[in-house]
Amino acid sequence: MKIGINNSLCSGCRVCQLICALTCEKVNNPKKGRLEIVGHFPVPGGYEIKMTDECNQCGQCVRFCPMGALYREDEE
Ligand code: SF4
Ligand code: SF4
Repeated sequence: MKIGINNSLCSGCRVCQLICALTCEKVNNPKKGRLEIVGHFPVPGGYEIKMTDECNQCGQCVRFCPMGALYREDEE
């Protein structure tokens, strides 16, 4: 799977980080997720999604992102 990113849709909720940490690292700690959500302050609601090198493109974060900011590029 190749994961696509649409930063303009990201709300900064960090659900993706929590889901990744729970499923990939087996810990309840969003900071352990294999992606980063970087706030672009003081721009209101501006976020940048960054996959880390540890991301294995499993797609769990795509399934649970409530905003559609993450998507499968092969399903466009
Ligand atoms: S990518 Fe989706 S789940 Fe992750 S912080 Fe942005 S809106 Fe939330
Ligand atoms: S694709 Fe999988 S490993 Fe990569 S950030 Fe999403 S949940 Fe984590």
